[in-house]
Amino acid sequence: MAQIEFQSVSKRYADGLPLAVNSVSLDIAAGEFCVFVGPSGCGKSTLLRMVAGLEDISAGELRIAGQRMNEVEPARRGVAMVFQSYALYPHMSVFENMAFGLRVNGVADAEVQRKVREAAAILQLSPLLERMPRALSGGQRQRVAIGRAIVKQPRVFLFDEPLSNLDAALRAQTRIEIARLHRELGSASMVYVTHDQVEAMTLAQKIVLLHAGERIASHGSVAQVGTPMDLYHRPASLFVAEFIGSPRINVLPGRLHGHRAGEATVELDGQALALALAVDATRLAPGSAVSVAVRPEHVRLGAGSGGAAGATLAGRVSHLEQLGDSALLYLELAGGALLTARVEGHASARVGEVVPVSLAAPDLHLFDAEGQACRRCVALPD
Ligand code: ADP
Ligand code: MG
Repeated sequence: MAQIEFQSVSKRYADGLPLAVNSVSLDIAAGEFCVFVGPSGCGKSTLLRMVAGLEDISAGELRIAGQRMNEVEPARRGVAMVFQSYALYPHMSVFENMAFGLRVNGVADAEVQRKVREAAAILQLSPLLERMPRALSGGQRQRVAIGRAIVKQPRVFLFDEPLSNLDAALRAQTRIEIARLHRELGSASMVYVTHDQVEAMTLAQKIVLLHAGERIASHGSVAQVGTPMDLYHRPASLFVAEFIGSPRINVLPGRLHGHRAGEATVELDGQALALALAVDATRLAPGSAVSVAVRPEHVRLGAGSGGAAGATLAGRVSHLEQLGDSALLYLELAGGALLTARVEGHASARVGEVVPVSLAAPDLHLFDAEGQACRRCVALPD
């Protein structure tokens, strides 16, 4: 039995407003780390707040540990939530901030002491228990907010953009601490909201990517659910492909020449290039417009081995960024399409120079005119 089950859960804040959450169905297992990610306004916080009981569910059913939660009050759901804003009590010490919820619930003092000290040890807050929040750094305050959730021993932890107020270095460090916490807490599920695809990729066992756009019918619905590697290697749509990965995946206009035995030949950048791609042949008619997408890290400088396994194109370097460990080359192809390439180490190319770039068929993603993936499933790397 899944720990959390969403069955066609929808949310409409008021009549006349579009659905903020659009028929989401989803299972989250006990102990699983699930990340809701997507552009601003896609319904991440709304979805999380419905789990917490802070928003009513307009339609559908939410279950925790098999039990319907729609009408259950927040305090009885066995969940604890950590907000971006920390929401600490400014006039209480770290210890009292963490103890407050327990004391309100009438937990005996010895038990309060034990639980708070245990949580403080996990979060490396033990030396700070007598400090006031104003004497803490942002990262320490966020750890206190997490500690307040831990002492409740919830079956589900809910995080809403908990790292957004931290600077980049602290964000990376706190991200690692949250992953460690998840390992140490074992059977508690974590549901984590972020707009940052790097946080989603690094923390999640399961990513739920939501559509956004008030004017599109799919607003607030699930674009794809899968492991980080599923979304990176097998994006179900152009929207997913473009959301995951940095720099953003290249999208080139193409046309399908035809396919035989499940392998498609595609015209790319105005050139007739035979790219043997494994496609779902039922989805595409010869002559139809397609998008061929390739991640910058999969564009190789230099001519490829040729043949049906890939293509070699010529690109004029329009701009170059040396990052030290790698370089980004912004290329303009003969047909006018733009292509970004990321190469390891130092790039010796110069702006204005025309360089050969090769694309290997296994690295290419093919989408139909509606942006739906047409590639047959390929085996993921181990
Ligand atoms: P996210 O967390 O992904 O940025 P939200 O869940 O906060 O998105 O919001 C989803 C949609 O619902 C947005 O269009 C937002 O404007 C709308 N929304 C959020 N809260 C309310 C509210 N209290 N009343 C009306 N609309 C809301
Ligand atoms: Mg939000």
